[in-house]
Amino acid sequence: MPDTPAIHVQDLTYRYGPLTAVDHISFAVGQGEILGFLGPNGAGKTTTLGMLTGQLRPQEGHALLLGMDITQHTAQIQSQIGVCFETTNLYEGMTAEENLRFFSRLFGVKNLDVAALIQRVGLDGRSRDRVESYSKGMKQRLMIARALVNQPRILFLDEPTEGLDPVSAEAIRRLILEEKQRGATIFLTTHDMLEADRLSDRVAFISQGRIVALDTPHNLKQQYGKRVVKAQVAGPEGRMEAREITLDTPETAGALQDLFNQEQVITIHSEEASLEDIFIQLTGQRLTK
Ligand code: ATP
Repeated sequence: MPDTPAIHVQDLTYRYGPLTAVDHISFAVGQGEILGFLGPNGAGKTTTLGMLTGQLRPQEGHALLLGMDITQHTAQIQSQIGVCFETTNLYEGMTAEENLRFFSRLFGVKNLDVAALIQRVGLDGRSRDRVESYSKGMKQRLMIARALVNQPRILFLDEPTEGLDPVSAEAIRRLILEEKQRGATIFLTTHDMLEADRLSDRVAFISQGRIVALDTPHNLKQQYGKRVVKAQVAGPEGRMEAREITLDTPETAGALQDLFNQEQVITIHSEEASLEDIFIQLTGQRLTK
């Protein structure tokens, strides 16, 4: 049923003793959508993922995946999702091929084209080497391949590009977009706001266990961000001075005219607010340390 949300969460809550790590969050993710789940360390992202994937039992609220309650249809749901968490769970003594064959048997997947999957994640040429000889980026690509063996309808990715070299990070971002093309729904946790901005259809900002905003990057910027023009002008004695003019206000046109009439403009460009700026504005916290 294409209208059933891939993920539907209502009042989901999890506490570790006195600490409420996830505090009555509610949201839905449509089929084929990429939701970026953005928040700083400790915001509750991993705990949310744990509940959505059937590893932690919610203490309040519920989560429906593909229309089924995760606490009641755990195995059925798990056979239709792919999960890639930070902690590697690959067999280091086995090759990439052996790992993928092993996990496909575990999922009961027949006729997996292992070579094609290995090629997709860019590990061809190294597929018969033991995983223990792989770089962090190669292991992460194999983790993603592992999460794809059952052609999941929902893919959960926890910080998939964290700490990776730029080539591996880019390969993983490309794979994420390919999976969306295939029709998969993707739940992506990250504290990389540029990545979230580029990949996500919508982003949720999470802070101290609560969702403080959820919308498309474009709408968040429209609603909370301000666009500015930044210019460098020639000051006294040839020194460069900076000027900043806020766009979209009644004074903008006059200020821009004054800039050009009264100053010698050397460089000029416009900037829109980043998701990081908006996150700070809404929560008072930075996404990254
Ligand atoms: P990170 O990016 O650092 O993993 P996160 O957003 O995924 O952060 P969680 O790992 O879900 O956040 O943690 C949310 C809160 O719950 C944090 O305050 C964390 O210290 C706490 N927490 C997480 N796991 C446990 C645990 N097993 N026992 C006690 N507290 C925990």
